[in-house]
Amino acid sequence: MSSTKHVAVIGGGILGVSTAVHLLRQGASVTLLTEQGLASEATGRSLSWLNSAGERSTPYHQLRVAGVDRYRTLFAADPNREWLQFGGGLMWNAAGQGEVTEARHAYEKSIGYDSKLLAPEEIASVTPGIDSAAIPENAIFNPGEGWVSLPDLVNFLMEEFHALGGRLVLNAGKASVMVDDGRATGVETAGGETYPADAVLVACGAGTPAVVKPLGVEIPNGSPVSMLVVTKPVEHQVTAVMNTPRAAVRPNPGNTFALDHDWYEEQITEHADGSFTIPDDVVQELADESSKLIAGNPELKPASWKIGYKPIPGDGEPVFGELGQVPGCFVAFTHSGATLGLIAGELLSDEILSGEKHPMLATFRPGRFS
Ligand SMILES: Cc1cc2nc3c(=O)[nH]c(=O)nc-3n(C[C@H](O)[C@H](O)[C@H](O)COP(=O)(O)OP(=O)(O)OC[C@H]3O[C@@H](n4cnc5c(N)ncnc54)[C@H](O)[C@@H]3O)c2cc1C
Repeated sequence: MSSTKHVAVIGGGILGVSTAVHLLRQGASVTLLTEQGLASEATGRSLSWLNSAGERSTPYHQLRVAGVDRYRTLFAADPNREWLQFGGGLMWNAAGQGEVTEARHAYEKSIGYDSKLLAPEEIASVTPGIDSAAIPENAIFNPGEGWVSLPDLVNFLMEEFHALGGRLVLNAGKASVMVDDGRATGVETAGGETYPADAVLVACGAGTPAVVKPLGVEIPNGSPVSMLVVTKPVEHQVTAVMNTPRAAVRPNPGNTFALDHDWYEEQITEHADGSFTIPDDVVQELADESSKLIAGNPELKPASWKIGYKPIPGDGEPVFGELGQVPGCFVAFTHSGATLGLIAGELLSDEILSGEKHPMLATFRPGRFS
């Protein structure tokens, strides 16, 4: 860069924070603005299973594998971080669906994704702490997968953000992109403060389509409402992330578990003020379902549960890159933002500063909806 480029990032979730830190590492001057606090939305209530399991488009798979690779590098620097671990992933389907599991395993093997098809009695030899009686027929173990606690990762990255001189604006309200002569020129907070910039990144999670709409840009929003439960501490040996018919479970720092699923989505009520509630007994039912998966079936007590939108673009694929209609304005909006958090920040920061488009993002451009 001939002169310091100033970038304003809207959104204090993992995508905004990661991109901001990658920009700072390359010498940019960065202002990160967010509506309330950091990790206040999806990033603060994510299962954050790091994976590319199952079947999806080849470019999306390749990006996710690169995403897991960046976490591997971070993990290797300090394997003792309680908030980033690689204990593998374990999945199984409901009774009568053993052939579906076999087909998934065959597909994963065909693309070189590490995948082991196991009978229930073989589980203990690959991963500890599981109640194999919960597995009706067979299960897949993916040894290369892991999990991260995103609020801890955000705290970790923000130390570097501050050390590199980033400027953080909390409680900015619903900020908007300033445009002059068709080009993004900065960000305006809900209170009317303005932050001029050479480039703007909109990384507003499920709020991204609403932020770009006034710019004349349509990005379909398929974000469902979801819930993440964190349990009270409990003694256990589990290291793998489990995806099962009635509960998804991952270890969480402090001997707790993070739990989610989708069978209870219809029991979530959205209120006029934008808040959500769910009956307490539904939360306990998820904890009880999760307990059945863990050796010794320990009683799981919900300590907290958070409900809100899970960011998913309308066509399910990530949306990354500059808006054709508004040069200088970039977006980052994706499902699986935990897995992609580090790689997306890396590739987007390169694009924002160099102007060169990365080939791995070619099929994810916002222009595909135009
Ligand atoms: C229950 C659940 C389970 C998940 N499981 C997984 C998983 O297993 N693996 C995986 O890879 N991913 C998973 N995800 C997805 C992943 O957590 C998200 O993709 C990721 O956290 C999104 O980060 P983000 O930065 O895009 O958005 P968010 O974390 O939602 O952050 C967006 C930020 O922008 C702010 N904002 C919005 N609008 C404005 C505005 N106008 N002005 C200022 N600020 C604004 C918000 O307040 C928020 O702080 C899961 C998500 C959920 C909810």
